[in-house]
Amino acid sequence: MAAGFLLPERPLGTLADWLALGGGDGLRAARRLGPEGTIDEIRASGLRGRGGGGFPTGAKWAGVAAGRGTHHYLVTNAAEGEPGTFKDRRLMRDNPYQLVEGVAIAAFAVGATEAFIGLKASFTTEIDRLTRALADMTAAGLAGDVPIQIVPGPEEYLLGEEKALLEVIEGKDPLPRLLPPYELGLFANDVAIGWEAGSRPVAGRSDSNPTVVNNVESLASAAHIMANGSEWFRSMGTRESPGTVIATVVGDVRVPGVHEVEMGTPFSALLELCGGPLPGRTYKAAFSGVSNPVLPADAFDTLLTYEDFAARGAGLGAAGFVVYDDSVNMTLVAAELSRFLSIESCGQCPPCKQGSLSITAMLASICNREAGDEVLGELANRLRSVTDANRCFLGTEEQVVVSSILREFPDDVAAFLENRPALNREVQVPLIKEIHPGGIVDLGT
Ligand code: SF4
Repeated sequence: MAAGFLLPERPLGTLADWLALGGGDGLRAARRLGPEGTIDEIRASGLRGRGGGGFPTGAKWAGVAAGRGTHHYLVTNAAEGEPGTFKDRRLMRDNPYQLVEGVAIAAFAVGATEAFIGLKASFTTEIDRLTRALADMTAAGLAGDVPIQIVPGPEEYLLGEEKALLEVIEGKDPLPRLLPPYELGLFANDVAIGWEAGSRPVAGRSDSNPTVVNNVESLASAAHIMANGSEWFRSMGTRESPGTVIATVVGDVRVPGVHEVEMGTPFSALLELCGGPLPGRTYKAAFSGVSNPVLPADAFDTLLTYEDFAARGAGLGAAGFVVYDDSVNMTLVAAELSRFLSIESCGQCPPCKQGSLSITAMLASICNREAGDEVLGELANRLRSVTDANRCFLGTEEQVVVSSILREFPDDVAAFLENRPALNREVQVPLIKEIHPGGIVDLGT
């Protein structure tokens, strides 16, 4: 496992600490290469978005840079509401300077007129550190020429959905709009389907304002790539997934925590960094947030890359892992994650809201030993339709999380249906508020 470059050994306290690590070199390199050369360098590095999708960052920047209209925007998705994930908050706390530099580089490359960093208002420590870093870097001429604004938002899970985040930056509720940011971005006043045009139209201009939305870790990585070159980045990780990844591990391990490891590291080796399983227990399964199918323990040697997790039928997501051991019945996990998603569903798409509520009720009836075998057919029907005509990915999350548990752990479901003894341990959705030294985790609700 290579040493990381994103997470410092100790949190950086001042801009001088960042300058001592080469801070400013990335932005200077970008200015030397120009916008096109900067995009080429990021493309050559193979950097993939660390927010969960793994989309190539260079291609995303190129698409918006070439987009029509005079106004482009850069948005940093720093909302980090995915259960089991804490890495962006750790990055913003320990080195906010690299994020500000990455934002400046990306805004320069895509020709943005303004840049925004959207995060939850409850992230007070991160807002303080970012605000100070932005002020210090602006004063030192290291924050680029594009204005950068920090935008606090509400607690909802959907704040982290990029189309909902744009709504919040425009001063509205976190309700995902229909079209993606690269088609209709911030403050667009072009013709749109199914959602209200932006609230800040520019007289005489009809524009789609293509907007890049990038994750914190992606932009922080971009600062180092521009400083050190794409070949340096490609010297780590795999051909399809270069670089390092910052993984969060919580749940049934001895020492939960956040670790930066080289892409291609076995998931089992990451778990060893967390001290292994709890005494007397063996691993059963893990989830990467609530957006991907379950990874059963017999696949824990899967390498931490987008391609290896996809090949195993799971997904790397934002590398925020929730680990379960053999003390839990996975039907209870399905019921709790489904309950979380059904509450967070905004209701704009009836198949998502009604479907996730119905699936949650059926899973609860199984866990309460009130259901018969016929519930499985009804569950299958709802799981098929919960994604119909949806504006965002939440309905798909419901489908893949629940159906993967039913598929991988049929005996856990049968134990309830057949009224056999079942493991009835309490399960909680790990919405992380804090990870203290030693692995003590504070959870929210
Ligand atoms: Fe809301 Fe669900 Fe539709 Fe997403 S899919 S917009 S969460 S109702």
